[in-house]
Amino acid sequence: MIDGPTELDDLYRTIILDHHRRPRNRQPLPDASVAAEGVNPLCGDEVHVQLGIDGDRIDRVAAWGKGCSISQSSASLMTEAIADRSVVEAERLKRAFEEMMTVATAEPAEELGDLIALEGVHQFPVRIKCAVLAWKVLEEALTQYAGKAPATTTTE
Ligand code: ZN
Repeated sequence: MIDGPTELDDLYRTIILDHHRRPRNRQPLPDASVAAEGVNPLCGDEVHVQLGIDGDRIDRVAAWGKGCSISQSSASLMTEAIADRSVVEAERLKRAFEEMMTVATAEPAEELGDLIALEGVHQFPVRIKCAVLAWKVLEEALTQYAGKAPATTTTE
């Protein structure tokens, strides 16, 4: 039962802390289709992402790294959000997530699910880069998969 902002904030904090303490899908894939990594030098965050893509489907995903709780829980939440989705759906989620982080008036898209727990981060501009890092790295990996030039992503 969620009655107001306080309970909602508590729920969101609980989700973020849970993913920080027990990150999902941390095991590197033995047979990744693509891999990418990125850093957020402002905060010292580092995220690695691997995808196993079969046709148009992301059927395996791994993410790991080090850094603040927002960067690492965002990576963990991302792996759950994009697993077993198509590449197009993952790209749409990425846009929806970045919109939630950068457009203050945006109503978060419902499909973001637990990722909405990170919405409050948009009030803290320096932390937005922490939250979007994993998604920048995902974009990099998807770009590689599409056959474009790979490069290390740096958000600054
Ligand atoms: Zn950070």
